[in-house]
Amino acid sequence: MIPVILVLLFLGLIPAYIAQTKGRSFGAWYVYGLFLLPITLIHSLLLSSNDRKCPQCAELVKIDAKICKHCGNKFEEQSSPEVDAVKRNRDKGGW
Ligand SMILES: [Zn+2]
Repeated sequence: MIPVILVLLFLGLIPAYIAQTKGRSFGAWYVYGLFLLPITLIHSLLLSSNDRKCPQCAELVKIDAKICKHCGNKFEEQSSPEVDAVKRNRDKGGW
């Protein structure tokens, strides 16, 4: 029985990691994953990221931010296909 629990504890890290890369809480998603692993895994993959990576300091900042809160880098107003796709998705009411 113990190895099964260990496998579950390990597999719970996968959706937690995916959610973290999209700016969500690692801890909350890990607990979520322990209880509902298959659902959490799908949910984490479907999450749309509301963050983008700052080109200067590589920290995650909100997609709407004009200035990086970590290093003060000003973002150009030019839109990238990635940012546009996220905004379109969010405006449609996607979760
Ligand atoms: Zn920055």
